[in-house]
Amino acid sequence: MQTYQQLIDGEWTGAAGGKTFQTFNPADTREAVAEYPKADAQDARAALEAAARAFPGWAAQTPVARGRILSRASQILESRKDELARLLTREEGKTLAESAGEVQRAIDIFRFFGGLSYVHGGQTIPHDLAHVFLYTTREPLGVAALITPWNFPIAIPAWKLAPALLAGNTVVLKPASPAPAMAFEIAKALQEAGLPPGVLNVITGPGGPIGAELTAHPAVRALSFTGSHQVGQQLYQQLAPRMVRAQMEMGGKNPTIVLEDADLDLAATLCARAGFGLTGQACTATSRAIVVRPALEPFLEKLVERARAVRVGNGLQEGVTMGPAINESQLQTDLDYVRIAQEEGARLVYGGHRLIDDELEHGWFVEPTIFADVTPSMRIAQEEVFGPVIAVIAVDSFDEAIEVANGIQFGLSASIVTRDLKRAMLYAERIQAGVVKINQVSTGLALQAPFGGVKGSSTDSFREQGAAAVDFYSRIKTVYLDYSA
Ligand code: NAP
Repeated sequence: MQTYQQLIDGEWTGAAGGKTFQTFNPADTREAVAEYPKADAQDARAALEAAARAFPGWAAQTPVARGRILSRASQILESRKDELARLLTREEGKTLAESAGEVQRAIDIFRFFGGLSYVHGGQTIPHDLAHVFLYTTREPLGVAALITPWNFPIAIPAWKLAPALLAGNTVVLKPASPAPAMAFEIAKALQEAGLPPGVLNVITGPGGPIGAELTAHPAVRALSFTGSHQVGQQLYQQLAPRMVRAQMEMGGKNPTIVLEDADLDLAATLCARAGFGLTGQACTATSRAIVVRPALEPFLEKLVERARAVRVGNGLQEGVTMGPAINESQLQTDLDYVRIAQEEGARLVYGGHRLIDDELEHGWFVEPTIFADVTPSMRIAQEEVFGPVIAVIAVDSFDEAIEVANGIQFGLSASIVTRDLKRAMLYAERIQAGVVKINQVSTGLALQAPFGGVKGSSTDSFREQGAAAVDFYSRIKTVYLDYSA
């Protein structure tokens, strides 16, 4: 078992109250993975004060100097890629291939923002009068608080941290309690890369008391959160009285529409990958397949074939294609929704059970699950499960498919499978989602492109990822220089 300390002001220390907590391998809960300090409001305050002290020095460095540290951290993470991927799988449960992909994503994100540092700045704007130089600069905001979920424990901290640091902010990061190791591994890499003390502080512990301090402390000028709608909404309300810049990226109930002209093998493969991959624990997972009736039966048959081919098990084992749920509570949520869907009249076509055979009995394993005869108002069609459960909804037309797809509180990612270019383009125009995929999985994003949701999936204030990500972490100052006199 590894032991981590929290990082405050460049020092690795225990929690002020001396308490600790452990994480356990979700594939085999007999294995404790790591121990962490259990921070409280006092630790959060110390971390925020350290970040506030470090801010003027960090903000005074040039973007290129800051970017060099990000690029160096990318190289350090790359040199540890295999070791980090194994640790990620042991703590979060996803397969080794999925973990390796995620670690690579974090490496690439730091490289991307390291490179972006060379063009980080404002613009020049022609003035109405001669001999007036009108330009903008970008300034950092101050201390940024980052609160991240467990399901992408290295990619999400990376995609918030890199633009926050590039823009010149100092940071307090609070990763999710079920999988904090990767946040500390990023911190180690940044420290080794030369990040000055206090610029990044990482604390672990329960979200409630730490979140209360992060939202109330006057040093915090921006808070970026990724997680559930319920917590995001609460944090947004806590921040409102101080009018602090806020970015809340939350859940989804993502559709994949299958039209009658679609390549149904492709449609089934895309839905299975986006619905069962990462054990369905992705905010962009496909959890609704909305299928136009002529395609329904052949599509269902093919989707069941794909579900049957999923090999559930410990993600470290070769050949395993789907790991466990993160913990008992998520497993219970998955099984609760299986029961609720059946009670509401949906037809269980495949899966729906916990797996406990042989070596699976010590983990939180669930079968990939498919429901048919789902109607749009059922809870299984409306609420985020965050497990490998696909609800198949039959519709009569393209227009009805879009109406059903839009008839939910969320709007994160949305996919369509069709060969009809016109309807694909109309879909892109009419679907209420931050990300639209045509003949692609609803999961999976290009790190160089903006990402975020609409409706209940996001505060829809600023986008994450890509060059647009720095907008949240910087403010624009406008300068008029008159040299006419
Ligand atoms: P969560 O329960 O909302 O937790 C997210 C983070 O918030 C964790 O660090 C958690 O800490 C902290 N937290 C919990 N209660 C808090 C409070 N009262 N005040 C401040 N912070 C608090 O979500 P999760 O279970 O980790 O992640 C799954 C959710 O994230 C899903 O809904 C998924 O769709 C969403 N997600 C969205 C995106 C996106 O980009 N839109 C990406 C990935 C995931 P503790 O762990 O210590 O409780």
